[in-house]
Amino acid sequence: MTEGQTMSLTDQLHQARHEQRKGKGPRCAIGKVIAKASDDDRTALQDALNADPDEWPASAIAKALNVGEHTVRRHRRGACSCGRIGVTP
Ligand SMILES: [Zn+2]
Repeated sequence: MTEGQTMSLTDQLHQARHEQRKGKGPRCAIGKVIAKASDDDRTALQDALNADPDEWPASAIAKALNVGEHTVRRHRRGACSCGRIGVTP
């Protein structure tokens, strides 16, 4: 960024989004479970979320976490409020 240049609205938007990705913003149900889980549980959960959906179906994870299946799918796609898959606190 050159001297004297002010931050554009676009930059501010990107920054706000980035901050949320770092975990400052609200999370989806999956993100909340991850945030509260122990290190071991978190690792296991993230492995499951990052695994092949044939191996770890969204329905199985949803049942284990007592959340909606669509919530798991959305989190896996990175379309939830966590911003991306495998977000850590
Ligand atoms: Zn999420």
